[in-house]
Amino acid sequence: MKYSSTRGADAEHPKSFCDILLEGLAPDGGLYLPQTYPVLTEDELTKLRPLSYADLAYEIMHRFIDDIPADDLRKIVNKTYTKEVFGTGDITPIHTLEKNLHLLKCSNGPTLAFKDIAMQFLGHLFEYVLAKRHAEINILGATSGDTGSAAEYAMKGKKGVRVFMLSPHEKMSPFQCAQMFSLQDKNIINVAVRGVFDDCQDIVKAVSNDLEFKVKYKIGAVNSINWGRIVAQVVYYFKAYFAVTKSNDEKVSFAVPSGNFGNVLAGHIARMMGLPVKHLIVATNENDVLDEFFKTGKYRPRKTADTRQTSSPSMDISKASNFERFLLDLVWRDPAVVRELMRKVDQEGGFDISHCEYWHRLPAFGFISGASSHADRMRIIRNVWERYKIEIDTHTADGLRVAEQHREPGVPMVCLETALPAKFEASIVEALGHKPARPTGFDEIEARPQRFDVIEIDAAVVKAKIVAVVGGQGG
Ligand SMILES: *Cc1c(COP(=O)(O)O)cnc(C)c1O
Repeated sequence: MKYSSTRGADAEHPKSFCDILLEGLAPDGGLYLPQTYPVLTEDELTKLRPLSYADLAYEIMHRFIDDIPADDLRKIVNKTYTKEVFGTGDITPIHTLEKNLHLLKCSNGPTLAFKDIAMQFLGHLFEYVLAKRHAEINILGATSGDTGSAAEYAMKGKKGVRVFMLSPHEKMSPFQCAQMFSLQDKNIINVAVRGVFDDCQDIVKAVSNDLEFKVKYKIGAVNSINWGRIVAQVVYYFKAYFAVTKSNDEKVSFAVPSGNFGNVLAGHIARMMGLPVKHLIVATNENDVLDEFFKTGKYRPRKTADTRQTSSPSMDISKASNFERFLLDLVWRDPAVVRELMRKVDQEGGFDISHCEYWHRLPAFGFISGASSHADRMRIIRNVWERYKIEIDTHTADGLRVAEQHREPGVPMVCLETALPAKFEASIVEALGHKPARPTGFDEIEARPQRFDVIEIDAAVVKAKIVAVVGGQGG
């Protein structure tokens, strides 16, 4: 299995999994993608059906990761997907709401959002690869809440890894602050920036663009374009499919609350591998760039100033980074076309494919889309509570809202639960008039001692911090 960039640079010298794992963007600004997808036969699918989550994860992942010995990969996977970490041996259990309407519960990991599923794997994988290469990494990231905490809980205590996480000062929910800032591990460094999320993101870019600094201080990333995260997310689409069907002639649709297009891209890859998926429903909130594309063929990423702050904040994204990976499949894998489309995004603010052959090809990939509003989320959270007596979070509500418009008789609909309501208490109180249940162990989280620095919007200060910590710990 070899990987090359969506924009085609160096296609004659494709790379292996471990090489791209630590690299982030390809040198030409594109994203790495396998040169072909492994396609499963009917027989192979049947063999996967009875497997446990960890065994299934191994079977899917080893097809993408052929430069880690099988025994080692199996160990990493077994260490990651345990009842201790995810609260249940099923890892992503199905909760049936009614006939042919299911929730896939992906949020039982340490930070109560689906990002743990991939990030926990990445934590073990990084530790393994870095040890093999006698290397270390300083992960520099920016978060508006979920990614940062998932990364920190995955990387805390891991050898060879430090995390420097920037977050907007006093902009995250009290629960999210408590989750991140109460970590006392010395390889986790929290920095609160007096600004908004985009200011944090700009600092990360400024530091990473200083190539000399980046190399000297081994700066890396775990943002949502990381291919290792996507691979790990493919697994639960298979798990869910097997959980709601009896045989492989049945088709299933998935509804996915989407922001950076990472989660639903994993569904697309599962489908390309031969999983019988009928529709992949891309659900957005008011930030509807993706909905607009799937409805009109126009892709117009918004400017930061036009990105709305909503009650499903983890989907407040103006530019869906992983979308470029799907584009390559859409344009018959011609990187020159992707290059041109992305040039238009950079220079003209977007592109429109509604008049070309690609637009007519789009339905073959099974995507459907929809957007929802704050009022929709509140209504869905109330309905689900009244009808099924369970609490869902605002992002999951976005998914269910679009799912309910596209249910088909006889086709199971699986809605991905992407976070637990406890993370977004204020919105649940608004919808239901009471606080959401908290999983055990989280009762007094806001009362724990917190450890973080507050800084102005200044990349130089962040660099100085990295130099001090790395130097001080003998990096
Ligand atoms: C990250 C996140 C999303 C969006 O997922 P993408 O992979 O970026 O599309 C949706 N819901 C929650 C709760 C998230 O944390």
